[in-house]
Amino acid sequence: MMQLDNLYQEVILDHYKNPQNKVLDPNSDAQVHHVNPSCGDEITLGVRLDGDKVLSISWEGVGCSISQASTSIASDLLTGKTLEQARRISEDFLQLMQSKGSIEGDPEVLEDAVALAGVSKYPARIKCALLGWMAFKDASLQAEAKKAK
Ligand code: ZN
Repeated sequence: MMQLDNLYQEVILDHYKNPQNKVLDPNSDAQVHHVNPSCGDEITLGVRLDGDKVLSISWEGVGCSISQASTSIASDLLTGKTLEQARRISEDFLQLMQSKGSIEGDPEVLEDAVALAGVSKYPARIKCALLGWMAFKDASLQAEAKKAK
């Protein structure tokens, strides 16, 4: 069992029990389905853009609390940001996940996502935490490409 800070554990459980934006929007500009076979996590995630801004992120999924909470956190945090900001934040989160516990993450930038910092010490769970973020990256690139046509 993972040992995470109690407060962080609570943030993760709260997102798991009350996931944000967990109703798939059929009018998404792009929709992707990503799986993490090592754990059995699965999500479908849609992105809507307004120019270069992330208008909405909606998703549906099943899986462990880390994957579901992390997707909820990402959908909440990245909505309303420009694509550039959203990518910079995602890059910071990726760095945090690859840090093996050596960095804590900036709460000013990552907000609730810092609660997942402890996951970086558990290599088997990092893919769970990254699932929603990778799906966002994929969907936002597809949505952007579609809009550029
Ligand atoms: Zn998982």
